[in-house]
Order: sequence, then structure tokens, then C-alpha cells
Amino acid sequence: MFLGCHLSIAKGYLKAGEEALELGANVFQFFTRNPRGGKAKELNLKDLAALIELTKKEGFGPLVAHAPYTLNPASLDPKVSQFARLALKEDLERLENFPGVLYNLHPGCHLGRGEKAGLDATMELLNEVSPGFKTMILLETMAGKGTELGQTFESLKYALTKFHDQKRIGVCFDVCHVHDAGYDLVDDLEGVIAEFDRVVGLDKLMALHLNDSKNPKGSRKDRHAKIGEGQIGQEALVKIISHPLLAGRPIILETPNEPVGYAKEIRLLKDALEVKP
Ligand code: FE
Ligand code: FE
Ligand code: ZN
Repeated sequence: MFLGCHLSIAKGYLKAGEEALELGANVFQFFTRNPRGGKAKELNLKDLAALIELTKKEGFGPLVAHAPYTLNPASLDPKVSQFARLALKEDLERLENFPGVLYNLHPGCHLGRGEKAGLDATMELLNEVSPGFKTMILLETMAGKGTELGQTFESLKYALTKFHDQKRIGVCFDVCHVHDAGYDLVDDLEGVIAEFDRVVGLDKLMALHLNDSKNPKGSRKDRHAKIGEGQIGQEALVKIISHPLLAGRPIILETPNEPVGYAKEIRLLKDALEVKP
């Protein structure tokens, strides 16, 4: 099983990999650049090669590179969509140096023009910037806050089918978001998994974000809570990550924690799953 958390790469790629190991993780996620946007730091290929070496040696799962969450490829504002175009393209260029990494992004916000138009715009932009690059792109399941796209499995399926290369597109299942979107992970996990499989297909599921939620099911709020401190609860979260149909994907904690808090949660989950240290 690949279990880890979101980590900063401010001190470099290798440092983040070493930190993951110290926390008991065998996978992690990082932001490709400042999550609120802006320029990416210059890529240190030697440092990246050292991380790749470490992940091979230690048997890490596929790492997840998260695009800045303010990026809105569905915006009608040319400045906003131009930033999305440049950032996505530059991220994909850089990730060519990182074999096997999964590039996760939020599908964006339609800002009132409607879900279909928004999803069309996002996928058009992805189809424009991604040809020629090897990296697998993941669309994240979203809580549906405001005009957020990707709240329903149907909307993700619609987006996926628009992509030019079915081998390079998948979904990252954010547990807090799916719960906030209205799916009953607590009392009907089997039903939700069956629905995901029927609508999207479990073969498209590439990664999980494991978060508890501060708010009730269907609240469309997107406020992450620590494991066991939210409305989903530890028992349901453990059931999710031990479900055989979800097994094998990298599981990333994005709970409100500093690294020590992540180490505790990783230990807690491993204990619950009876994974040896
Ligand atoms: Fe995200
Ligand atoms: Fe997430
Ligand atoms: Zn979230």
C-alpha cells in the first residue's frame, strides 16, 4: 500500500523524499509551484534525479504533482485562462523529467456560464497543451463549492471523454470533496464505489486524497479535517483505504497538519490496518 501526505518541496525534491521516509510514508504529493499561482522555481535536475533514485530504492508509489489550485482553465477572462495555459504547459514540460508522476488538477470553476461550457473550456485547454507529453493527468473530484466543476462523477466522466488520449487521463478521488459533494461514504461506501465504477470506471481511478471533512455530507464546503476529527470519521476512512477495489493507488493525506501531525496520522492508519512498521 502506498500511503503518504502532501509535502513542501521548498527545500528541494530529495529533501521532500527523505522527509516522507522519516514520516513513515512511501509516497507524497507536492505543489508544482506556489499553490496560489506565480512562477515555478527553476528545476534542479540533479536534485530531481536524486529523488527519483530514492523513490526507486525505497519502493515508493507514484508521486502526485498538484497544479496550483487558483488556476482556472474554464475562465472566460483571457488573462486567467492564459495563466492556466502557460502554467499547465510549463508544468507538463517540467514533469517530463519525472517518469511515472501523476499530474493532478482541479477542473476549474464555470463562474456562472454553466457546467458543460466550463468543462468544455477546461478540456479544450488540456487538449491544446498536453499533446507530446507523457505525464498522466488527473482531474480531482471536487466538493462543488461555488461554481466548482467536477462535483459529480457524471461531470468527471464527461470531461474525461473529451480528452484526446484516454491512456493519459484519470481521476484523483478526494474523500473530503466526495463527501461534501453529497456522496454517502459513511453509510454506503459500497454504493458509492459501485456508482463511481459504473459512471467513471475504476480503471480511471489513479490516486486518493484522504481527508476527513469539517462539514456534513452534501455541504459543498471543502474544509478538510484531521483523520477522525471530522464528519466522516476514522472508521469510515479506514474502510475506504482498506477496500480491495480501491487498493494499489497512492493515498495522500491533505489534512491540516504539520509534518509531525502527518507522521501520527500515518502511524494511526497503519495501526488500524495492521501494517507492520
Ligand atoms: Fe486538490
Ligand atoms: Fe484534494
Ligand atoms: Zn479540498
